[in-house]
Amino acid sequence: MTTTATSIQPQTSSVAGHSESSIQNPESSIAPEAQRLKIVFVGHVDHGKSTLIGRIFYDTNSFPDGKVEQIKKACDAEGMEFEYSFLLDALLEEQEQNITIDTTQIQFRTEKRNYVIIDAPGHKEFLKNMITGAASADAAVLLIAANEGVREQSRRHGYLLSLLGIKQVVVAVNKMDLVGWSQEKFEALKTEYIDFLKQVGLEAKLFVPISARNGGNVQARSENTPWYTGPTILSALDHFQPPASSRELPLRFPVQDVYRFDDRRIIAGRIESGTIKAGDKLIFSPNDKSAVVKSIEHWGTGSAPRDYAIAGESIGITLTEQIFVERGHVASHESNPPIEAHRFKANLFWMGKNHLQVGPRYKLKLATQEIDCEIVSVDRVIDASTLETTTTGAEDRKYVARNDVAEITLQTRGPLVFDNHDVLPIMGRFVIVDDRNVAGGGIIFGGVYADRRNIASNNIYWHDGDITARQRALRNGHKGAVVWFTGLSGSGKSSIARALERELFKHNMHVYVLDGDNVRHGLNSNLGFSPEDREENIRRVAEVAKLMADSGVIVITAFISPYRKDRLVAREIARNSNIDFFEIYVATPLEVCEKRDPKNLYKKARAGEITQFTGIDAPYEAPENAELILHADRLSVTESVTTVLDNILPLLAPGEAAFEI
Ligand code: GDP
Repeated sequence: MTTTATSIQPQTSSVAGHSESSIQNPESSIAPEAQRLKIVFVGHVDHGKSTLIGRIFYDTNSFPDGKVEQIKKACDAEGMEFEYSFLLDALLEEQEQNITIDTTQIQFRTEKRNYVIIDAPGHKEFLKNMITGAASADAAVLLIAANEGVREQSRRHGYLLSLLGIKQVVVAVNKMDLVGWSQEKFEALKTEYIDFLKQVGLEAKLFVPISARNGGNVQARSENTPWYTGPTILSALDHFQPPASSRELPLRFPVQDVYRFDDRRIIAGRIESGTIKAGDKLIFSPNDKSAVVKSIEHWGTGSAPRDYAIAGESIGITLTEQIFVERGHVASHESNPPIEAHRFKANLFWMGKNHLQVGPRYKLKLATQEIDCEIVSVDRVIDASTLETTTTGAEDRKYVARNDVAEITLQTRGPLVFDNHDVLPIMGRFVIVDDRNVAGGGIIFGGVYADRRNIASNNIYWHDGDITARQRALRNGHKGAVVWFTGLSGSGKSSIARALERELFKHNMHVYVLDGDNVRHGLNSNLGFSPEDREENIRRVAEVAKLMADSGVIVITAFISPYRKDRLVAREIARNSNIDFFEIYVATPLEVCEKRDPKNLYKKARAGEITQFTGIDAPYEAPENAELILHADRLSVTESVTTVLDNILPLLAPGEAAFEI
């Protein structure tokens, strides 16, 4: 059934009233959002999903010219009976070869509007996409074959629709031809399934007796159902409400990336909901840093520049002040911020091979956030097919098994930014990654919104003291700064840092060494050596260093700080408070460090007595843009200190005397 890759094009461009670009990239265009209804077809395997979709495409003339004939001919040639599902297969095959079209989205059009089928049956990611929200539907067609009746997946899919908050559902009772178009059978099935749906809180108003294969009650009414007065499938779909425009919802702009050009920083992302305008005051969560939007960049749209952007657009913004923002942060307006919490409740569907366990760490992804989490408790487990519920006490279930739906309590390592799913679905939906695969998805409910205007104005804003940094510098005779040494264990960081401290002290400077071991004795005594803990270790040190430097001290740090990203965070933390940051790489080769081994740590690491030791079984990422590199294996400590002083002393001068002192 293979056809050429280009033959799909006439189909897309022939759809009345649609520009090709809006079809090829439905999410990037603005106008059509409200006109398109996204639907999903669900139901037990073999109950006729593909056939119904093929039939709908046929009835609505949505196939490229000649396609149906071509496939009928191919069937004849191979002596096969023609099936409408072949049409869908052919369409999908073409799309898979045509990379400009999202393979999970196909479209058809009725007189009223366009429909996007957000995933096709048989697609192996089908259920996963539905659960994870990779594809979110506005409405659903749930198929049940009349000859087989309500089956396991009919129930499970019904339950999942309710879980995902999809309220617009039409139940297609298919293969009515196989039960002689019996009204009695139809009504019995309807009663049984309505009962089930009621239990899951879903009210399906519409049950339509159809034959996808023969076409009865799909578009045209069937002569076989004089007893049926309701709508056909297509007119039922046309009666569904278009989704509330996400433009009307509060602003959520999850940051995807921050691009730096000289002094300019462009914060890039996709607006998930709401609108954003130049001049708007934004809050970035977590941490409630606020700043005003200076400009908005629309990339590659070719349209005239605008000083606003709306839901669905991928944009970049610049801010009037430089604040520290990174991937995962979510911008909102001050009046309507999201929730920020470590602990929350969720309904979760688990698809993983292994049980989801209470205790271990998993990765949770929500919008652009990626954060470690653990399951605190499994509060209720529901078998999605029988709806049997196990209410678990603390001593009971400590896991969620494959295909279970469960109510769980989760805890994240840092604050998670989210919304309740019923308020803002896209920000209330997360996935859990186990063993590098998406193994489950959930929706969050019951989170409490706090009025962050108070928090922001009372507690979180940075207070510039009455005494300025310049005044302190003039009094002290030098500026405060952070001198950040990085390098392997045994590279000489601490010795050089101590010697530098003595030298600066002799120069009558206020100086202090923040030593790695010392900090781990107190401030960071709760942290270990995993990548996450190392990251947090460095972040705290950077924050402390910033505060000390702001008080006028030259802070010298001597931490291995093996990750480039963490050092960049440290630099940003200082720079955001206008504090000079000097990164000094003590570049002693590993062999030399290992030979020195002043604390016998390499030996222990080689013997497996300690793990995650930098250079042995944990990486060290050498700096790319350090202010200074010291080849400490070739320099004495004194020579190293002299080199540092030569480079930094001129930069620590307080500047010219000012009249304000
Ligand atoms: P899916 O797994 O839900 O996508 O099911 P398919 O669309 O592949 O259909 C499974 C089988 O049921 C195919 O052999 C179809 O021809 C058949 N089928 C689908 N709809 C009807 C119908 O209305 N009447 C009859 N008799 N068979 C149908």
